[in-house]
Amino acid sequence: MTQTLKDASVLVVGAGIMGAGIAQVAAQAGHSVRLFDTREGAAAQAKDKLTQTLQGLAAKGKLSAEAAEQTLSRIIAITTLEEATGVGLVVEAIVEKLDAKRGLFQQLEAIVAADCVLATNTSSISVTAIANGLQHPQRLVGMHFFNPVPLMKLVEVVSGLQTDAAVATVIFDLSKDWGKVPVYARSTPGFIVNRIARPYYAETLALLQEQAAKPAVLDACLRAAGFRMGPCELMDLIGHDTNFSVTQSVFEANFYDKRFVPSLVQRELVDGGLLGRKSGRGFYDYAEGVSTPELEAVQPVELPTAQLLRVHGQGPVADRLVATLLQAKQAFLRVPSSDWVGLCVEGAQLRLTDGRTASQLGVEVAVFDLPLNPAADATLAWAPSLRASPAWRRAAPRWLATLGFKPLRVADTPALVVARTLAMLINEAADAVQQGVCTQDGADAAMKLGVNYPAGPFEWLAQWSTPAVLGVLDALDTHYRGERYRVSPWLRQRPWMDMEST
Ligand code: NAD
Repeated sequence: MTQTLKDASVLVVGAGIMGAGIAQVAAQAGHSVRLFDTREGAAAQAKDKLTQTLQGLAAKGKLSAEAAEQTLSRIIAITTLEEATGVGLVVEAIVEKLDAKRGLFQQLEAIVAADCVLATNTSSISVTAIANGLQHPQRLVGMHFFNPVPLMKLVEVVSGLQTDAAVATVIFDLSKDWGKVPVYARSTPGFIVNRIARPYYAETLALLQEQAAKPAVLDACLRAAGFRMGPCELMDLIGHDTNFSVTQSVFEANFYDKRFVPSLVQRELVDGGLLGRKSGRGFYDYAEGVSTPELEAVQPVELPTAQLLRVHGQGPVADRLVATLLQAKQAFLRVPSSDWVGLCVEGAQLRLTDGRTASQLGVEVAVFDLPLNPAADATLAWAPSLRASPAWRRAAPRWLATLGFKPLRVADTPALVVARTLAMLINEAADAVQQGVCTQDGADAAMKLGVNYPAGPFEWLAQWSTPAVLGVLDALDTHYRGERYRVSPWLRQRPWMDMEST
């Protein structure tokens, strides 16, 4: 088995958006690259396009003219697969169909040497299934790049049931040589990123289905938590057809596990041709002159007298409330031993969500979402108890404003928006780790580099706390019943794992 592919010639099959990007990255790393596509002229066209791209980069000074020239000289468009004899690596980026991929690799086995590594860039097909029928299935491995390939750092190195560990290692090392950050994954539906990311979309779609808030409100809350785009605007960008089909394929591949059930809200958009930006309308209207909806601003209230104000609980959110009140030179009492976090105003409670609804918690109660990144944007969801007086409904958001937040009202649902979404992302990542799909570090790196998350799920878990996440998930599970919010066994056992390691 080849120890390294540093000096290998590379064949890229499929000269579409991904294949062209992979050819560019391989050639920039110094490999001689052959590019093949069954569509006549497609490989040559891809090379022409790469020529324009690289010359454009050279003109902007981002690349020397010499480097651009050398990279291009290494890429040769070929018209038959037989011209690829002697390559040490094949990267396949053809149509996403199992039969086509299997057929191609079987054909290639008759052309390339027995030690040539075969890599597939599939985003959703089982690597184990693609290898079925090959003479040497142990040399087939997933090398899953993200779009656009030259810019996105992540490569998921995916092992099927028969993949030789040494082959995965060689691809891991090669990805590093190509300037990428590789992460090992086991071939399971969605691999790492497309699996762990499902709740980011699914929880927002569930909130929309129960009319808990408008898309602009949900987007604002999740952007405030540090995500570059809210789920609605992101689904509009990806295209609802594409996003829906990934969700559907993960759902089907998991034997219709309710955890991954697709959304009727998105189905409606797809059926109606409201695919997002590309069709001019999705959750938002992209027609010229249409502006995004304004969100309500809430004015702060006057601070009351000291003996009526209490800060409950401990931890970063309680600390933040204390700091704001101290800055405002406001006297208050502390109740650090309280079993909830938040502010008590003349007996009424403004509580950090623990997963339960405000209505479950009492009468004069309002809950607020997990403030994750308040320094950058203090937008925060809140909800009053359905039994709260009109006076407390009016006062609660004004108290949040006084405490430095920009409150946005949503329906009284368990764990509101950010806490709910994060808990479910963590839960999915925990299942992935327990099932040996990836390591905790691998999941964190994959989510930060593959979909630009502000932090990885296990980094959030460390910041938040396992009992708090378990509380949120259990509250969701109790509220909705069914399989969707079942807690990952890994997460359930996590507190004892921590004890074991100390
Ligand atoms: P694409 O449609 O842009 O390109 C596919 C190319 O493959 C086309 O040029 C087509 O003519 C060619 N082709 C089809 N069958 C072939 C065959 N049997 N032999 C040779 N060439 C063949 O598609 P893409 O977006 O580049 O995706 C390619 C692969 O990469 C798919 O498996 C896809 O799931 C995966 N992928 C795509 C993305 C993405 O964001 N587009 C991201 C990661 C992985």
